[in-house]
Amino acid sequence: MGPFDKENKELRRALHLLTSKAERNQSILQSFFEMEIRLLGCNKLDELLDLILIEFREYFRLTAVNLVLFDPENAARDLLEDYVPPEPGHSLRFVNNQRLLKSIFPTPELRAGELSSPLKKLAFPSTPFVLSSALLPLVRQNCLIGSLHLGSNDPGRYSQHLDYNYISHMASVIAVCIENCINQQNLKRLSIIDMLTKVHNRRSFDQEIIKELSRSSRHQTPLSCLFIDLDYFKLVNDKYGHQIGDKVLSSIGQLLKKNLRKTDLIARYGGEEFAVLLPNCNSEKAIEIGNNLRQKILQMIIHNSDSKPFRISASIGITYCSSEQLLQADLDQVAHNILKAADDGVYLAKQNGRNRVEYQPLPDTQPRLTESLHSA
Ligand code: GH3
Ligand code: MG
Ligand code: MG
Repeated sequence: MGPFDKENKELRRALHLLTSKAERNQSILQSFFEMEIRLLGCNKLDELLDLILIEFREYFRLTAVNLVLFDPENAARDLLEDYVPPEPGHSLRFVNNQRLLKSIFPTPELRAGELSSPLKKLAFPSTPFVLSSALLPLVRQNCLIGSLHLGSNDPGRYSQHLDYNYISHMASVIAVCIENCINQQNLKRLSIIDMLTKVHNRRSFDQEIIKELSRSSRHQTPLSCLFIDLDYFKLVNDKYGHQIGDKVLSSIGQLLKKNLRKTDLIARYGGEEFAVLLPNCNSEKAIEIGNNLRQKILQMIIHNSDSKPFRISASIGITYCSSEQLLQADLDQVAHNILKAADDGVYLAKQNGRNRVEYQPLPDTQPRLTESLHSA
């Protein structure tokens, strides 16, 4: 073998190494690119979190993915009431101040490599098998809004001597996506939720009742409606002050949410009046639910620092719409009649002594105009 042959062989080997490295980098970039498109496609915070906390782990073959979010006003938590992260309490944490984030990032720059044991406890409190990691600061408008922790059981996976431009870039994309999802969903929420009681507002109820009636009509299922009016609420304000009155209203909102199904529609219909729509619920069941809520409200003790704890009661009007009544009916008219009948129920309950449930049947409704034209 001549000297050129040897040199040639070495050059070929070097070229092969370079080509495989380039191919590997290309495939890493491609996978980051694909993930970035998916991140940008998320428009709901829970979808985004599932993508980051569950799919990242599988896609990038990681041992752990943890996320800390700075959420001083509970905006993210309010949107995630029903969300269950993969490891509750650890994989997703919310902080109200910057202390934890600042101790992970004295400067807001990516940290890669092996972790000291106190830092590992902060970044991966429930995963002791992380041997190398990348901790990514999530920054928006110069503010640290969170921290994403990618952990691997391969000690060589992340090293402080390597450049991680693509991961840093993805962290910027994630920060934008998180902020966008929170802002967009919050905006929508503000328009449909009553901020004091955290249940739907009247405008949203008036829109949703038509959708619910149309769904019930399609599925041929009945539907019930409760109207809940707090008794002598003016006296609560007069005696304990408006702030305590607000506290009562907020507790009633929580009580209703806690004791009704996710599919039920709960709204604050007026000052101290709540409306509840119970899809697929007959009148007997609705009366049982109404009485249960009435008792739960009565059992609620309201604590007030200045005077003795006190209780309140509610008068509840109930009405029911059968699937037959929905057939060929004008849904706007049915909605109007449902609200009127439930309100009449409240009036009756007040007349009959308060702290009680009264049922009012739904009057007959006119058929839909289009249907009557057809049959004419
Ligand atoms: P009844 O048993 O006949 O229903 O008597 P009531 O005092 O509950 O009814 P009324 O309609 O006379 O008074 C309703 C009160 O609800 C008056 C108002 O001060 C109070 N209210 C309405 N909205 C709010 C609110 O957002 N916060 C507080 N604290 N009070 C409110
Ligand atoms: Mg009232
Ligand atoms: Mg009242």
